[in-house]
Amino acid sequence: MIQLYVPLNFMGFIYREIKQSVTDLEAMFRLLGEDPEIEDAPGAPPLAVRGGTIRFENVDFAYEPERPILKNVSFEAPAGKTVAIVGPSGAGKSTISRLMFRFYDVGAGRITVDGQDIREVTQSSLREAVGMVPQDTVLFNDTIRYNIRYGRWDATDAEVEEAASLAQIDGFIRDLPRGYDTEVGERGLKLSGGEKQRVAIARTILKGPPILILDEATSALDSATEKEIQDALERVSRGRTTLVIAHRLSTIVAADDILVLEAGRIVERGRHAELLAAGGLYASLWSRQREADEARETLARMDDDE
Ligand code: ATP
Repeated sequence: MIQLYVPLNFMGFIYREIKQSVTDLEAMFRLLGEDPEIEDAPGAPPLAVRGGTIRFENVDFAYEPERPILKNVSFEAPAGKTVAIVGPSGAGKSTISRLMFRFYDVGAGRITVDGQDIREVTQSSLREAVGMVPQDTVLFNDTIRYNIRYGRWDATDAEVEEAASLAQIDGFIRDLPRGYDTEVGERGLKLSGGEKQRVAIARTILKGPPILILDEATSALDSATEKEIQDALERVSRGRTTLVIAHRLSTIVAADDILVLEAGRIVERGRHAELLAAGGLYASLWSRQREADEARETLARMDDDE
C-alpha cells in the first residue's frame, strides 16, 4: 500500500507543478494521461468546433475557497478575433488561460466554445482545439526538427520547414552547422528565450488549432527580436480565435478588444485608443510602461557610448 501511495502522491505533486506553469501541456498529458482531478462527464461528446467563439459567462473562480481570484468575469472572443488580457501582476490573467484548458473547473458561471460548455465535452477534444504558445517552452533533448514536428507527428520535412519559416526561425536554423538536425535542450545547443518561443510558434503553426492562447514572455527582449516574434505571432493568430495574455502593452495595440483585469475583475474594456482616452488603469499602465521603456533605451544608449 505504502509502495503504491508514494509514487501516486509524487505524480500528483509533479502534475500540480506542471499545471501551475502551463509550460508544455502536450508533454504533460502524454506522461500522465488525462487530468486526474477533472473528469469527463459520462458519455461526453467531443467538442464540435465551428468558428471557435469563446465565451466566459459570469465566471467566478478560487484556487482556495477563502480567496476568490476571478470575480464575475464575462467576455466574448468572437471567432477569428484577438482579445488581449492585461492588468497588474497577480490580477488573474494566467488563471483565465488555465480555465480555458479546463485545468480547473469554474466555481460559478460557465465557459463555452461555440456554445458548448467545456465541462460537457471531452478534455482531449478541448485540448486538441486549443494551442498554447507559453512564456517558457520546454524543449526535448532531441533535434530541432523533432522539437518542431512535435506539433503534428505526421508533418513532412517540408511542412516542418515551412512552419519554421513562418515562425521566423528558419534562417537561424539553416545557419547552424547541422541545420535542422542540431541537437537542442539540456544536453545540446541552448536556445535563447526568443528562439525557444519561435520554436513553440512553429509547433503551433503545425498543430493548426482553431483557438490560440499566447502567453507573452515577461522578460524584455531586444527590440529586433520582439519585432520578429510579434510578426510570427501575428501570422499564427490570423484567422484563429486568439487570447493574448499580454505583459508588454506595445504588442496589443491592434487587438480587437482589450480586457483590463484588476484583482480578478474586468474594470475596463475596449480598443487601445478608447482605453487611452478614458484615462483609467490602462492609460496609467501604458504611461508607466512607456517610461520604463524610455529608461531602458537611455541606459542602452549610455552602454553603447561607453
Ligand atoms: P502575472 O502577470 O504576475 O503573471 P497573473 O495576472 O497572470 O499575474 P495569476 O497567475 O492568474 O496572475 O494569479 C492570480 C492569483 O492567483 C495570484 O494571487 C496567485 O498568487 C494566485 N494563484 C495562482 N495559482 C495558484 C494556485 N495554484 N493556488 C493558489 N493560488 C494561486
